Amino acid sequence: MTPGFDPAAATAAYLATISPAAHAKALAYTHGGYWLLLWDAVASVAAAWIVLRTGVLVRLRARLEQRRPRPFLVVFAVLAVFLLADFVLELPWNAYAHWWRERQYGMTSQALGGWLTEQAVGLGVGLVMLTVLMEALYLLIRRAPRSWWLWGTGVTAIFILGVFVLQPLYIEPLYNTYRPAPPGPVRDAVVQIAVASHIPPDKIYVYNGSKQSNRYTANAAGLFGTARIAMSDTMFREGVDVAEVKAVVGHEVGHYVMQHALRDSALLAALALVGFVLTDRLFPWVARVAGAQGVRGIADPAGYPVLVILVAVLGLLATPLVNAITRAAESEADTYSLQHVNEPDGFARALMKTVAYRAATPGPLEEAIFYNHPSVGSRLRKAMDWKAAHPAPPSAPPAASAAPAG
Ligand SMILES: [Zn+2]
Repeated sequence: MTPGFDPAAATAAYLATISPAAHAKALAYTHGGYWLLLWDAVASVAAAWIVLRTGVLVRLRARLEQRRPRPFLVVFAVLAVFLLADFVLELPWNAYAHWWRERQYGMTSQALGGWLTEQAVGLGVGLVMLTVLMEALYLLIRRAPRSWWLWGTGVTAIFILGVFVLQPLYIEPLYNTYRPAPPGPVRDAVVQIAVASHIPPDKIYVYNGSKQSNRYTANAAGLFGTARIAMSDTMFREGVDVAEVKAVVGHEVGHYVMQHALRDSALLAALALVGFVLTDRLFPWVARVAGAQGVRGIADPAGYPVLVILVAVLGLLATPLVNAITRAAESEADTYSLQHVNEPDGFARALMKTVAYRAATPGPLEEAIFYNHPSVGSRLRKAMDWKAAHPAPPSAPPAASAAPAG
């Protein structure tokens, strides 16, 4: 125990540094974000419904099948036309909710052109990935109409693992440039943590995250041989607080070491299983309610928008469950950082930089439903409880910390 140190008071002291104006702004941003979950799903359903009502996919499928069945071509053509139509229909909403609003709150300084370019890249990536997945799923629905949901879950699990493995190699470089961390005190500190956790230092990258966001952030991505930790260049700016960086990197190393990506894959596959069973049962009803004229059933790719409607609604309903599981992993990563890096105050200062986009002190129910990380209030308290129980070692001699970085 650290004598005379009160973790509750230390937590309150950190929280008290948030000005009332900053807190009000964070509340508005966070609460508005809850509504965006709903409106995003509504926009998705509305766009799918509009495409369905035009009958364009039914006509496209009929034309492609005029002479002979071409199931693979039909799936690809339907996906290409649907994704493009959906992109255009949802663009005004997405530009408002995910670009203009972010700028209004000062979360990004990205220009509209850069944002649009990334959306277009996302459309291309989405078409490639969905084609791979949906060709397999539609094949299973055609061949095993009664048990496709079971085989489909297996295929989806493999697909998810594939995406996790390939993400750092082929997807993330489409958006950002990744380089080895530049030499200096930040890299030295990070390499020390990595080596202590048996991570090769060449698995640590810096990316130009400041392009999209001013957020102070790092992430662990990849799986098996492609796993790596990436730190936003916002963490390498002038006058950076090394204790903060160490605490944040310790958290990401925790995700890496505990292989949370594998757990996430299993979770997503389990959700896919439930989603597929429900989709199999609900498809005819949703198709009827949505007025899907000419759609022959779940095996008909022209009914793809019906699947989109189901995924949007089921995805929204699954939000609290996904958040609960994600929060548990985040909490474990926090513990890992405290145990292995032991920078509770660096950790606390890094957390204070996130209170602008995740209000610090939600109610318990609000946190349970909407928060994919534990709230800053509870994370601070955990760090201060740790500090109370683990007094810091005597600090290094001044000469060592004042040595010029070379
Ligand atoms: Zn995390």
